[in-house]
Amino acid sequence: MSTENTISINLDAIAARIQASRDVDAVLRELGQDICAVFEADRLTVYLINEDRTLLVSKIKTGLDSFDDLKLPMSAEFSIAGYVALNGRLVNIQDAYSVEELNTFDPPVYFYRAVDRSTGYKTKQVLAAPILDGPDSKEAIGVVEFINTLSGNPFPKHAERRAGVLCKALATGYRQREKAKPAGAKTKYDHLVIDGVITPAELELAIRLARGKGVNIEQVLRDELKVSDPALGLALSKYFGLPYEPFRPDRARPAALLRKLKRTFVVSQAWMPVGEDDQGMIVMTTDPERFAGSRIVNQIFPNKKVSYRVCTGRDFAATVEQFFGSESASVSVDTIIRRMEGEISEARSGVVDDRVEPDSATVQLVNKIVLEAHNLRASDIHVEPRPGNGKTKVRFRIDGSLTDYIEIPAISHAKVVARLKIMADLDISNKREPQDGKITFKQFVPSLDIELRVATIPTVGGKEDVVMRVLTAGRPVPLEQLGLSPRNLQVLKSMVSKPYGLFLVCGPTGSGKTTTLHSVLGYINTPETKIWTAEDPVEITHESLRQVQINPRADLTFARAMRAFLRADPDVIMVGEMRDKETTAIGIEASLTGHRVLATIHTNSAPESIVRLLDMGMDPFNFADALLGIMAQRLAKRLCPKCKKPHVAAKDEIRLMLTEYSQDLKDTDPFKADPKAALQAIYAEWMKSYAYDKGRFILYDPAGCEACRGTGYSGRVALHELLVATDAIKQAIQEHARVAAVLRAAVNEGMRTLKQDGIEKVLQGTMNLHSVRAVCIT
Ligand SMILES: [Zn+2]
Repeated sequence: MSTENTISINLDAIAARIQASRDVDAVLRELGQDICAVFEADRLTVYLINEDRTLLVSKIKTGLDSFDDLKLPMSAEFSIAGYVALNGRLVNIQDAYSVEELNTFDPPVYFYRAVDRSTGYKTKQVLAAPILDGPDSKEAIGVVEFINTLSGNPFPKHAERRAGVLCKALATGYRQREKAKPAGAKTKYDHLVIDGVITPAELELAIRLARGKGVNIEQVLRDELKVSDPALGLALSKYFGLPYEPFRPDRARPAALLRKLKRTFVVSQAWMPVGEDDQGMIVMTTDPERFAGSRIVNQIFPNKKVSYRVCTGRDFAATVEQFFGSESASVSVDTIIRRMEGEISEARSGVVDDRVEPDSATVQLVNKIVLEAHNLRASDIHVEPRPGNGKTKVRFRIDGSLTDYIEIPAISHAKVVARLKIMADLDISNKREPQDGKITFKQFVPSLDIELRVATIPTVGGKEDVVMRVLTAGRPVPLEQLGLSPRNLQVLKSMVSKPYGLFLVCGPTGSGKTTTLHSVLGYINTPETKIWTAEDPVEITHESLRQVQINPRADLTFARAMRAFLRADPDVIMVGEMRDKETTAIGIEASLTGHRVLATIHTNSAPESIVRLLDMGMDPFNFADALLGIMAQRLAKRLCPKCKKPHVAAKDEIRLMLTEYSQDLKDTDPFKADPKAALQAIYAEWMKSYAYDKGRFILYDPAGCEACRGTGYSGRVALHELLVATDAIKQAIQEHARVAAVLRAAVNEGMRTLKQDGIEKVLQGTMNLHSVRAVCIT
């Protein structure tokens, strides 16, 4: 039998199974690889259009190693799949990166490069076909997309024909599933209309409002049309044919089932086990179609029989909060505070207790605050009393910004402060002087191994503020994951691989300097290298480093530790901070005598660091000889990848960014020679690296979703400015040049400033200009 025949038989068999199945997604997951084989393709993605026709959501994707669904805007401006869905036409593209080829389509096709960019995969050939709603329909319900042929040649004509066969089968299969749904119900909320809870016009209005506001329909139904949760739940239950599982405030946390699941995973997956009964493990989900029959649940719980229940988005969010909101989930902060207020009113009715002995509620509250700070990835906890009877504010710093957390009754303030001081071994009777100490939290809550740096400061009204830094025992991050631009990464690697010299990382407190130094240490750490570190505090540990905790009270200062290191046969010395002349001088000397010295310095920019050290009295010639380079860095807010909103950048937007970008380049040789041409060259570079086809740039705005607590931001991105000590820079050092002159020389030698690095990251879509400006004040 010829190959061609075998293949068509295979395809027929696949098509037959799809058409006969009531669960097309499950069949696709099982046969994904076989389908790729028939089409001699590397990857296959099947998208379905969502209910309000705004998004294409991937149902199966072979080769992409991620549980997350791909979601593409339903717009030809963003993707090949979007084009196919909108126009109902098959496309067979030879090279997705060829703008010329994409422009031969009418309207032109755009290729969504972000997935390639984030995975490192290179798309070339694309065969994408619409799944049409019926034999005569032009309306697509989804798209089948094959990426890259195994041969490297374009997809042949017969592949187009086969794609038609596959799509027809898929259409039949998916229609089958629609038919299995109750008559008349097209969206999952239609039962609200069928049951007379709202009118058809109201449902349509809700869908329109939701689309306009960019929120989900459920929220509009609840907030604007006052549909109750039980009514929503009943409608969902009827639509999906599954029991409704509401949020239950008294539900016990199924600790054993949740052990394998992280909050972020649960939130992104929209399913979660909530308990077990004789039916098996009960899984609550807002989207049963996505998970019923999916192998994800079975992969994680291989031996469980699963019983699915549908719930509303709010039920789900509340249950996530209940299970993951805090470790000791039994009591909420509100409950503890209410209890404290109860105790207070009791106290008021009798004799007011003036002592500040913390009671059990205070102990619980303090533990709770720290646990929640840790869960929310807060870096600092601020306890701020207000004068008189004003409540005490507790705020968390998360991703660099302070956010309100809770308020504590004024009368409990002293108890909370006393408890913290006891935990930190501070003098609880002394309220007039600032004190500092640390809390080893594990001693109080064994499940959480963190340390808190505590500072108390007396404030007006005879009260005390407490500020705590949360130190999580960390592991070094690989250099490749620091978010350095490809150029910076390459330059940094070669710089720190030199046998001796001085490398500095600078930036304000909390800019991730220590993380970077540890990544560099991780990169140069080999069995034949001896590495000594002096740190305050030791935040990241690694067993092959010899790490020393600085302790000024025992007179173990940075300078003293460094002198000791030099007698202890080092190859590499890392100094937490070069803040005085002595430490710096020892560092320079050590690097001139054959050692690699790494340190952080508390300055704003790379050029400024040079001038600062010179002003401190360093010998310009020694310093110039010793220096390998300096990297300045900042952490800027990352747009939440789950909800950031794309838009095509307006010309003015790009022009503004270009102006801002080129500000520091005014004195470079190309700009002095021909400013216009130099600007053009940068623009051309951007086009090549960041633009979508046809020169459009896609920028993003923050939106806000559950994953980012409505802020629109999640986590941070590092911005870098890497100055290499080239001959020109060394000369500037020897001449004791001023900051502007060093900057000019550095930029001329190819350094990109923090702001320039930030602007490029805006063009990449990881952040917006606002968060770049927030950390680059210059
Ligand atoms: Zn978000």
